[in-house]
Amino acid sequence: MTSKPPQIMTSKPPQFTPKAATAWLAIHVEMQQKILDNVYCPNCRSAVSIVNFSGSVKSRGLLLDGSCSACGHKVARYLEDLS
Ligand SMILES: [Zn+2]
Repeated sequence: MTSKPPQIMTSKPPQFTPKAATAWLAIHVEMQQKILDNVYCPNCRSAVSIVNFSGSVKSRGLLLDGSCSACGHKVARYLEDLS
């Protein structure tokens, strides 16, 4: 069985506000991947990967807005308490 090398984000995601990008890049790459692969989709009723997402800062947290990789339904993930 072959395994793909993990995708590493080294640059600012394109659809992030500057503040959101700063908060996002402060998160460890492995954690970023975990977050992106574990977004709840109400349509699939399970954890899915988020694709075509954008990021913005709401209150003190980071909001990721995107689509379900399986069905395309809108999904979002809110990360609280970023410092
Ligand atoms: Zn879905």
